[in-house]
Amino acid sequence: MHSRSWRFGALRPLSFGLVGASGLLLGGLVLRADESNSSGRSSAPLEVTQEDASESDKPLEEEYVPATKAELRRRLNRIQYDVTQNAATEPAFRNAYWNNKKNGVYHCIVCDQALFDSKTKFKSGTGWPSFYLPIAKDAVGYQTDYKMLYPRTEVHCKRCEAHLGHLFDDGPAPTGKRFCMNSASMKFIEEKSESKK
Ligand SMILES: [Zn+2]
Repeated sequence: MHSRSWRFGALRPLSFGLVGASGLLLGGLVLRADESNSSGRSSAPLEVTQEDASESDKPLEEEYVPATKAELRRRLNRIQYDVTQNAATEPAFRNAYWNNKKNGVYHCIVCDQALFDSKTKFKSGTGWPSFYLPIAKDAVGYQTDYKMLYPRTEVHCKRCEAHLGHLFDDGPAPTGKRFCMNSASMKFIEEKSESKK
């Protein structure tokens, strides 16, 4: 008697739980069937991902899917590829932005992240675009590089790791830093709306 009542007690909630679960499962299946009627079988999980992607179209999104080397070879020209992927240095004075005085923002050529504001650009006389500060603290990353006889601070895009240039301590106030960048690793976007100033 004792064990029987125990079994009843244990079975009841279990069977109730199963019914509940199968009901939910059925609901899920019906929902999926409805969706697959309109746009194919795998629509449900795919739609979720697409929504996420379109929402994160904003400048500093969390998720970044790096481009493949093959994709970059197609998209970038040779110097852009060599600079950003192989840390090459473009020739001084023979580059797009060393003498660019327009107002705007310099973006990463690979992942489009904003890197430098023209307000922090200064005339360095080096023949490369030079800035005393990045647009945001976490826009760029640093690494010590020993390609020369002395160690240098390499600067790269923090998001996609594209090589940008080097950092030196002989810049102007207020930072005293000189971000010596390659034009080939950047894309300048001119500020047009603020021309009233
Ligand atoms: Zn980047």
